[in-house]
Amino acid sequence: MKIVKFGGSSLADGERIKKICDIVLADPDRGIIVVSAPGKSENDPCKVTDMLIESATAALTAGLDNARRYMDQIVARFVCIAGELGVPEAGEGVKTDLYALLSREMVSRKNFVDMMKAAGEDNCAKLVAAYITSLGHKAVYANPGEFGMLLSDEFGNATVLEKSFPLLRENLAAMDGIVIFPGFFGRTEAGEVATFPRGGSDTTGAILAAAVKADVYENFTDVDYVYAVNPKLVRNPKPIEIVTYREMRELSYAGFQVYQEEALLPVYQAGIPVNIRSVNNPTCPGTRVVARREGEAGSVSGVSGSARIAGIAADNGFTSIYVTKYLMNREIGFGRRLLTIIEDEGVSYEHTPTGIDDVTVILRDSLLANGKLERIIERIKAELLPDDIRIVRDLSLLVVVGEGMKHGIGIAATATSALSKAGVNISMISQGSSEVSMIFAVESGHADDGVRALYEAFFE
Ligand code: ASP
Repeated sequence: MKIVKFGGSSLADGERIKKICDIVLADPDRGIIVVSAPGKSENDPCKVTDMLIESATAALTAGLDNARRYMDQIVARFVCIAGELGVPEAGEGVKTDLYALLSREMVSRKNFVDMMKAAGEDNCAKLVAAYITSLGHKAVYANPGEFGMLLSDEFGNATVLEKSFPLLRENLAAMDGIVIFPGFFGRTEAGEVATFPRGGSDTTGAILAAAVKADVYENFTDVDYVYAVNPKLVRNPKPIEIVTYREMRELSYAGFQVYQEEALLPVYQAGIPVNIRSVNNPTCPGTRVVARREGEAGSVSGVSGSARIAGIAADNGFTSIYVTKYLMNREIGFGRRLLTIIEDEGVSYEHTPTGIDDVTVILRDSLLANGKLERIIERIKAELLPDDIRIVRDLSLLVVVGEGMKHGIGIAATATSALSKAGVNISMISQGSSEVSMIFAVESGHADDGVRALYEAFFE
C-alpha cells in the first residue's frame, strides 16, 4: 500500500488534475491519495489557500460583502476546474459549501479562519473523487474528521493526537476503492475543524502513511529528484537516488526545501521510506529517503569521494557572537549563563562551537530584530565579563552532508582545501557530534563560490 501526496501546483487546474489521476490509476497500490488545495499556475497567480485567507481576513475586518467578493473568485476557480474535469455538478456542490462559510454565525466561531483554510483542500478532494468516479473507477472522498484525524485545538498550528493513528488505520482499512483524503486539516476532540501550519498536506500524508504502515510515502512534486547541490548554482548536478532521513534533515536544514521537514516525523518514526517524485516525469524513480542505506557501515575507507557525501547545502542569514575569556573552561556555568541570556530574548541558537577559552554562538539574523542582538550583547558584557566579544553578521553556512563521513578520512581536508583554492575565507568550522554533516561559516558574498567549490571537490 502506498500513500500518495500531491501538492497544490499539481492540482492548479483541470488538466493537471487529470494528469495526477492518470498517475494514481497507473498503479493499483496507490490506494490513499492526499491532496492539497489548487496552487499557482501560469493562468492562476494565486494559491487557493491564500485567497481563502484573504477572504477570511476581509470577513473579520471589512464585513461579509467584502469577503464575498474574494469568495466569488475562489468559487469561479473551482467551478472552472469542475468544468474542465467534466463534473459540473460537483462544482455546484463546492459553490454551496464555500458560500455557506460566509455567514455571521460562521465568522463568529473561534476557528473561522481554520474552516476557511481547510475548504481549499476539502473541496479539491471532492472534485478529484468525483472525477475518478466519472472515469468508472471506485473513488471516495474521505472527511478527515470522520476518519479520525484528531488534532490539538491550537488553531492554525495544530498537531496530531496519538489516538488518531489507530482510528485512521481502522477507518481506512474498511474502505473499498481509492480514498481521496484532503490534506492540511482535521478536527479537534470537540469536533471543530483545525489546520496544521502552512504546507500541512505533507503532514497529513505522513500521518496516514504511519497509521496504515504504508510500504512507501510517495510525495509528488515538480522535480525529478532531489539533487546533490542547488541546480541554480551548478549545471546538471548529480541526482540523489537514495538518501537517509538524517541526511535529508541536514540538507533541508540548509536550504533543500522539497517538503516540510517537520511534517515527516511520523514516517521517520515508523521507518517508512519516502519517495520524492515528479508529476511531469512519473516513470522517473525519484529520490528515496530511507532510514538506512544498505551495506553502508564499513563500506568505505580512507579516501574521500562522492560515495560518502550525499550533498552540499547552504543557507544565508546568520550572525555569530564570539566570546572569549581567559580560563573560561574552568568557570562553571559560563555556557549555561550565556545561553540563558539568549533564551531570555526568546531566540533559539543554531550552533555553539567551542574552544578552551572561547565559544561562538550562531544565531539566525531573522530572530534578532527589535533590539534583541543589542540587548544580548549588553548582557553578555555586563554579566559574563568577557575579555572580548565579536559579532559577525551576514554569514552563510555551507553544509557538507553524508552519513558515510564518519567512516572516511580526509573529508575536512578536501573541503577546506577546496574552499581555500576558491578564495573563500572560513569563519567557523563545526562537525556535528553525529558526524552526518560538516558546517563551514563563510561571508555571504562568498557562499555561492564556496558551494560550487565543495561540489566540485566531492562530486566531479
Ligand atoms: N494548502 C496549504 C498551504 O498552502 C497546505 C499545503 O498545500 O500543504 O499551505
